[in-house]
Amino acid sequence: MKVTKHIENSNGKTQFTFEILPPLKGQNINSIFDNIDPLMEFNPPFIDVTYHREEYTYKHLGNDLLKKQVVRKRPGTVGICAAIQNKYKVDAIPHILCGGFTKEDTENFLIDIDFLGIHNVMALRGDAIKSETYFEPEKDGHSYASELVTQITELNKGIYLDEELQNCAPTNFCIGVGAYPEKHMEAPSLDSDIHYLKKKINNGAEYVVTQMFFDNQKYFSFVEKCRSEGITVPIIPGLKPIAIKKHLNLIPHRFHVDLPEALILEIIKCKTNEDIRQVGIEWCVAQSKELMEAGIPILHYYSMGKSDNIKAIASQVF
Ligand code: FAD
Repeated sequence: MKVTKHIENSNGKTQFTFEILPPLKGQNINSIFDNIDPLMEFNPPFIDVTYHREEYTYKHLGNDLLKKQVVRKRPGTVGICAAIQNKYKVDAIPHILCGGFTKEDTENFLIDIDFLGIHNVMALRGDAIKSETYFEPEKDGHSYASELVTQITELNKGIYLDEELQNCAPTNFCIGVGAYPEKHMEAPSLDSDIHYLKKKINNGAEYVVTQMFFDNQKYFSFVEKCRSEGITVPIIPGLKPIAIKKHLNLIPHRFHVDLPEALILEIIKCKTNEDIRQVGIEWCVAQSKELMEAGIPILHYYSMGKSDNIKAIASQVF
């Protein structure tokens, strides 16, 4: 079922959803199930599966020689989605990127997931790979998520890349896109970022999931700004609990979001990792409860491959 339909069916009750990462190459699918199993009692209507593009690594060949290698450390997004739908009978949402995909790759990816009975897709640009400073699209790929959304919308109308193909079967994807309550790191201003978010919606996106945030006021004022710019689709908040001290630096660095001073002070006071984990859970529970009281239909948790703290939060909130 489409995400928009899940929201329509929720009848004012806030629903629990989460995102998982494919396991590192070499691990078994059971490592994914072990993380999903404890969360199923909260009845998620859908589960997102992230996509991880290629990376360049260097292998030592001896004699000071290095060989450049392309690796995908976390393949398996589509297979995991199929396995989730099969095992748990809930909708799985694959993320798809502009980065690393030609338009032809994109079309074939979409055909695969359509054949698997997947009806939602999260369309993202992706970040620059580690060896590049700025994002570089493939030669025949998309530069921005808005262009990717257009390709998916075309496929939903039965328009494929090969113009000679006639009377093609249309797909029926519900398209989600990302947004940043604290602005995307490359955007010159929040206004500019919202302008391009609106473009993604105008091109066919039907819902938005936000980057994580730790101060609900940032989400509320972002939603207000989006509404005043005429964005009417659901804006699903993304939440992540702080779990270790390293997150104090890692989260602002990697995700370009601020941590509230009160949260930082609470974490600094902690004596053990378990204390930090508890502070992270309590903060996220408080955020969740406030969002729920505001009538938000879906809360989306970034599990980052660890379900224990998400379960602790969900037990107190849902
Ligand atoms: P876009 O919407 O294309 O925007 C990128 C930047 O370009 C923004 O600054 C925007 O303002 C600007 N912009 C957009 N259009 C134009 C234009 N026409 N002209 C000029 N500027 C423009 N990454 C992964 O690798 N895998 C994942 O699975 C993944 N999942 C994610 C899930 C969510 C909910 C979110 C919020 C992010 C996720 N990301 C993921 C990270 C995402 O790929 C990066 O944040 C990326 O840098 C931006 O992606 P986007 O789709 O928001 O890009």
